[in-house]
Amino acid sequence: LHARTRLSAESIFSRMSRLAAQRGAVNLGQGFPSTPPPAFLLEAARRAVGTVDQYSPPIGLPALREAVAQDLEVQPEQVVITCGATEAMFALAQTLYGPNPGGQPDELIAFEPVFDIYLPQTVMVGATFVGVPLNLSAEGWRLDIDALCRAVTPRTKALIVNSPFNPTGSVFTRAELQAIADLAREHDFWLISDEVYDELYYDVRPVSLRTLAPERTFTVGSAGKRLDATGWRVGWIVTPEGAAPEVAGLHQWTTFCAPAPLQAAVAEALGIARTSGFYDGLRRSYLKRMQLLAAGLRDLGAEVFTPQGTYFLTARLPGVDAERLVTEGGVAVIPLEAFYRTQPAPPEMLRLAFCKSEAEIEEALRRLKGFL
Ligand code: GLN
Repeated sequence: LHARTRLSAESIFSRMSRLAAQRGAVNLGQGFPSTPPPAFLLEAARRAVGTVDQYSPPIGLPALREAVAQDLEVQPEQVVITCGATEAMFALAQTLYGPNPGGQPDELIAFEPVFDIYLPQTVMVGATFVGVPLNLSAEGWRLDIDALCRAVTPRTKALIVNSPFNPTGSVFTRAELQAIADLAREHDFWLISDEVYDELYYDVRPVSLRTLAPERTFTVGSAGKRLDATGWRVGWIVTPEGAAPEVAGLHQWTTFCAPAPLQAAVAEALGIARTSGFYDGLRRSYLKRMQLLAAGLRDLGAEVFTPQGTYFLTARLPGVDAERLVTEGGVAVIPLEAFYRTQPAPPEMLRLAFCKSEAEIEEALRRLKGFL
């Protein structure tokens, strides 16, 4: 049915995880932790199952809307709970842009290398995807504001900003975000700020785009990324004031509501995480693993671009083909070209996930050394 757009093709993440499982490879490809979620989350879930078992309102369980609102310093009325950030992004695509009957399709802009769901979701709602490349230099990956300005047209309906940025680990500066906010005001388009890695930063705390343009920014967040439980599928959207019912109105036709017991457990866990210093521990533990992987890769001769956030890093490793590496070398990574959909990718670049145990990272480095 979707052969032409290749929408139904297996995603690069599923493919690499499948090959890794088949070949017994260490999986530094798909970004999910190989260590368990915090005990306080699991205990909250055990209590919720058998207690909170029926539908929640489509807009979300009141306790979770309140917990998210408290964390992000917004009103609970602005919060919509979704089945993970993936469904949050789809609900926003359906709400904000589309085929524009009688005219040209709306245009959605996102930065490349681009996280894999943005383009398919744009196509699925009948809009046009416009990619704007980030600049790669010795200083790392940075926003090219001139390229962004050139990409804006009268049909531009929305821009997806992702900070901390998957796949490069960049965190946009306040000045970069301010330039984006100014451009959005000047040309009157919506901003979708994918902030699922908001608590995973290794330098300064990321600025939230919402604080610079609250009237036009939809912020997306994820319990899976914050609490090391990517299979839970609980995410959220913070909308500009007054817009939540409309977004929830669209989300109700896709999933009706997110799993109610997991919403209840996340509501409790967010409160514990906020007051217990959990996120500091999370950052420390990921920073340690990032440094282990980066140092090991540099020892192998790779050029490593140090991330300021997320649990991914990009590296140039000449002569390493990701397909051969997973089948013959026993290590799964993601070739960066998988994130380039409208322009050529910089050569020989890989994305490696470090949300894995130190033992796995060490084993992956040993195997890489043997493979090179
Ligand atoms: N966010 C994860 C990654 O970037 C995977 C998401 C997915 O497979 N849907 O690897």
